[in-house]
Amino acid sequence: MVWPSSCPVCGRLAVRVCPDCLKSLSGLFFRFCAECGHDAPCALHPDGLICRSISTYGGVNRDVVHAMKYSNGRSIALMMGELMAKTLPRPDVDFLVPTPLHNHSGREYNQAALIAGGASRVWKIPVENCLRWAAGSRNQASKGGRDERELPDDAMKSSDKIRGRRVLLVDDVCTTGNTLLAARKALSRARAETVGAMVWSRRI
Ligand SMILES: [Zn+2]
Ligand SMILES: [Zn+2]
Repeated sequence: MVWPSSCPVCGRLAVRVCPDCLKSLSGLFFRFCAECGHDAPCALHPDGLICRSISTYGGVNRDVVHAMKYSNGRSIALMMGELMAKTLPRPDVDFLVPTPLHNHSGREYNQAALIAGGASRVWKIPVENCLRWAAGSRNQASKGGRDERELPDDAMKSSDKIRGRRVLLVDDVCTTGNTLLAARKALSRARAETVGAMVWSRRI
């Protein structure tokens, strides 16, 4: 399948998405509990992971996210990260940590890492790709997909190089929050402190 090279928002040809069109999709600010989706602070999960997003997942934004992930959309991911960093408060952390691609996913690039890279350019906070899915976890979650089921505690692993560091998790879309929560568990086992998460869009 050949994805047409045109902006999913305005239809302009020969661009993946126009910077202004991408910006028009953002501007809805959410600060929510990754455990249950309620606005933060959440009474049910006072120590829950707090996630920020600047758009909702649906309509034309879904097309943009799809183009970003599957249609050589590296530049879109970088632009998303830059926009997020320009609109969200700069976190007091040592590293931005993207959620990993699944093992054997066959994908050429990790969109979460590129989003983190875009934010890194603006915030001057380094990206650390320290997370991996544990072997065998492949079929238990589809990253950013609809079937993101509850994950075992050890679904993800982190290298020890972030030991004692403060980090912000980065992903493209938050659906159930289970991927982010698995990432936080892995970081916690590696003795890193996850101060929060940010995603381009949340599913409502
Ligand atoms: Zn456009
Ligand atoms: Zn909650």
